[in-house]
Amino acid sequence: MAGTGDAHMRPADDEVLLRVEKLLVEFPVGRTGLKVHAVSGISFDVEKGETLGLVGESGCGKSTTGRAVMQLPEPTSGSVMFEGQELTALNRSDMREARTHMQMIFQDPISSLNPRRKVRDIVLEPLNIWKRGTKDERQALVDKVLEDVGIDPQRAATSQAHEFSGGQCQRISIARALVLDPSLIICDEPVSALDVSVQAQVINLLEDLKERYGLTLIFIAHDLAVVKNISDRVAVMYLGKLCEVAGSDDLYRQPLHPYTNVLLASIPVPDPDAEPLAVEVVGEPPSPVLPPPGCRFHPRCPNAQERCTTEEPVMRELATRHFVACHFPMDGTAVPAQPA
Ligand code: SF4
Repeated sequence: MAGTGDAHMRPADDEVLLRVEKLLVEFPVGRTGLKVHAVSGISFDVEKGETLGLVGESGCGKSTTGRAVMQLPEPTSGSVMFEGQELTALNRSDMREARTHMQMIFQDPISSLNPRRKVRDIVLEPLNIWKRGTKDERQALVDKVLEDVGIDPQRAATSQAHEFSGGQCQRISIARALVLDPSLIICDEPVSALDVSVQAQVINLLEDLKERYGLTLIFIAHDLAVVKNISDRVAVMYLGKLCEVAGSDDLYRQPLHPYTNVLLASIPVPDPDAEPLAVEVVGEPPSPVLPPPGCRFHPRCPNAQERCTTEEPVMRELATRHFVACHFPMDGTAVPAQPA
């Protein structure tokens, strides 16, 4: 992986809520003149009502991508079209307003909630800031949203976040995100810090709320098993680039990129007699300060050949709506070399 190209992009019509093109996010490394290449020119889109899973191991740039969509931080370059607005061109005040239509949920629910305030006030605050409705309407809406996420409004009115469990705190975070009636929620590893049984509850809740509130979701996770059930479409990232994009079922049934194959093989199988899959990836991810040339995955790829060290693979459709950036994908169909 670690490819380039935009063959996986769909037409920019009314169905597309978010369209990100050539998103580049780089951070300077002190005064060395070097840069961290956090996100290296990726493109993707999300249709209304869709859930896009964005997966990859820690440090691949998936969280930075989610934040750069919100312009936090502002991308180094690239385009972010959301609800027909080019976010990178908005001034501070217009961007602040635009963010009310797109909310984020974070990995650590407890630290993302103000420890000094009552939970109900935390959920109420965005409505007060934006002066939505009358005081009574705001409070009624907060109570409804709290009930919708499974939190007792009475308890929320008298308790602080530390009095709730981790799963309940994530529900409160979801309520705070929902209360402004956004069209897009970016969920950044929303269940990674939770127990497995609670993970399933929160994922089920997100799916339920998606239907009831007409939401579109970007679900960021490092674990393909977590992303599998909630996503309509999955985009796999490695070291700042996209390597495979496909419908969730297609990706799990037949991963075409060697890196996706490794991620799937690393999902534990709850069967003591199951044979471990013979898939091996060597070493640690390279530094995003000095990413490898050619395919960025080549130093670790079990399929790598000489060509991979110099020529960056381009995203291609190898099966219906199944895109992969790899010279030697898992189905054995080597992609012809690019003309020089
Ligand atoms: Fe990259 Fe080559 Fe491996 Fe494909 S086979 S992922 S192009 S190193």
